[in-house]
Amino acid sequence: MKNVIFIAPPAAGKGTQSMKLVEIGYTHITTGSMLREEINKNTSVGLKIKNTIDKGLLVNDEIVLNLITNKIKTINQPFVLDGFPRTYNQAVLLDKLFEDLKINNYEVIYLDIEFNEAVKRALGRLTCKCGATYNIYYDNLTPKLENICDKCGAKLKKRSDDNDSSIKIRFDTFIKNNEPIKKFYEQKNKLHIIDIKLDSNEITDRIKDILK
Ligand code: AMP
Repeated sequence: MKNVIFIAPPAAGKGTQSMKLVEIGYTHITTGSMLREEINKNTSVGLKIKNTIDKGLLVNDEIVLNLITNKIKTINQPFVLDGFPRTYNQAVLLDKLFEDLKINNYEVIYLDIEFNEAVKRALGRLTCKCGATYNIYYDNLTPKLENICDKCGAKLKKRSDDNDSSIKIRFDTFIKNNEPIKKFYEQKNKLHIIDIKLDSNEITDRIKDILK
């Protein structure tokens, strides 16, 4: 199975699709969650990261690159990279890392979502520490018991950056940075675009086809 890089605006469903790939043996490498783990360690670096994330801004490249490098070196492939690269410079850094680690078996999947849909999804999103995500604005995505994870029974949380002002900044930042990233992978013949208006299972099937 090929490795995957997901690039998508916030709340496009990268997390949900990644979990489907975890079910078939993929390791999920998600920079957002790794950064939130750093925040939970209550270090001064963690506090700086929290301030950046809560404003909807991007964390320093070096911090994020270190996190993913350490992770990729310790796992067996295949993996899903969710949340990196977010800038052209990060795409170049990742390319160098893949070259160093002799990783060329990968595809890039872009989940395409419109702004209004992303806002609705972000504002209704609830997440669990086990990785499951829910949404109170979609009947088929609400948890069976209010605020409780169907999968592990833990209490669900709302992300502190899933608020009106942060989602707008995150979406705008994504759009601004994404064009050169798309071109970068298009030129390498690695880019696949999927419209998130498709049913979630259909999206998963398309992704699995791409990764065969
Ligand atoms: P996510 O969970 O992917 O929505 O990421 C949450 C936040 O973590 C983002 O809004 C950024 O502040 C930060 N973040 C995640 N990935 C990166 C990255 N590759 N580069 C810089 N900041 C990142």
